[in-house]
Amino acid sequence: MSHQQHHSETAFTQIGNRKEESLKSVSTPIYLSTSYRHSEVGHGNGYDYTRTGNPTRDVFEEAMANLENGDKAFATSSGMSAIQLAFSLFASGDHIITCRDVYGGSYRYFDLLEQKQNFEFTYWSGSDEHELERQIRSNTKAIFIETPTNPLMTNIDMTSVSGIAKANNLLFIVDNTVYTPYIQNPIDDGADMVIHSATKYLAGHNDVLAGVVVSKGEGISEELTYIHNSIGATLSPFDCWLVMRGMKTLPIRMRQHEGNAKRVMTYLKNQPLVKNVLYPGKGGMLSFFLDDENRVVPFLQTLKLFTFAESLGGVESLITYPATQTHAEIPEDVRSSYGLTNELLRLSVGIEHADDLIQDLEQAFAAIE
Ligand SMILES: *Cc1c(COP(=O)(O)O)cnc(C)c1O
Repeated sequence: MSHQQHHSETAFTQIGNRKEESLKSVSTPIYLSTSYRHSEVGHGNGYDYTRTGNPTRDVFEEAMANLENGDKAFATSSGMSAIQLAFSLFASGDHIITCRDVYGGSYRYFDLLEQKQNFEFTYWSGSDEHELERQIRSNTKAIFIETPTNPLMTNIDMTSVSGIAKANNLLFIVDNTVYTPYIQNPIDDGADMVIHSATKYLAGHNDVLAGVVVSKGEGISEELTYIHNSIGATLSPFDCWLVMRGMKTLPIRMRQHEGNAKRVMTYLKNQPLVKNVLYPGKGGMLSFFLDDENRVVPFLQTLKLFTFAESLGGVESLITYPATQTHAEIPEDVRSSYGLTNELLRLSVGIEHADDLIQDLEQAFAAIE
């Protein structure tokens, strides 16, 4: 886990406390002001204009850098803008290797970079080191992965990827949205940058869109500071506060998500209409294949607690159909070739009582049988 002074439960819960010195508020204030008064030329208090720096955003960014054991964090208006910020370190003509099973929105963005900015992407299975090494070219600049992959829930060995990245002078970027810093810290395994869609587990309540980049290393941290301010993809003070408020309960939420996911996994493994269950061993996400694609629509229609909706990581249980929702951007032949088929459903198991979740699944299976 992390190298912070305290256990991570304490670090999460204490976010924002003892940060405000004038009135000593326990909950960190939301500084909406976009501008800050200077008493004379050259005498500011560290803040000028909110795109460049905001006291509420600073508290959130400092907490994220600390929890991910990075040097600096950058709060962005969405997970996608975090990915865009990270990729703004690269230029036209650069080649990036990414994992095959990647978030559909990331795939769409990479496709856009290929179409409009002459980037090159190749897609790696996530398992074979030699295949990864063979993809490295003279213009390769970075390896970008998600672990566990989504929706196929495969853990990628970050230490082995970071070894290959270092040996070839490549940046190693990890999207840590699904496990969160409560479960894993990619920087400890050699990542240079960590990405989060804070919309998901960090905020945790399906009510705010946000993203974060955490960086390790002086050079990229300075460059990201410059670009973050230049492009202005910053997160609003109110949204920073909402994410921090959510993060205070991340450890207890995550334990309940994980306990529930394990119960649901065991139930699904014994359900005859389920062909295969994919659970990466930790966290609250799992996927499974129904025995027949034609059962997907009636199954979704019969569920009462699991909400058929696109997203993950909130307190409410959601069920997603990757083929038409999160991964619709990926052509059908491409996604089928690596196992993302039309029978696949993905669960973001919430923090309700596991018995109620299982009962909901049970009544849906009984109805479609
Ligand atoms: C949702 C998601 C994103 C994109 O984040 P937004 O906040 O929706 O822009 C990126 N990566 C992963 C793994 C995600 O689940």
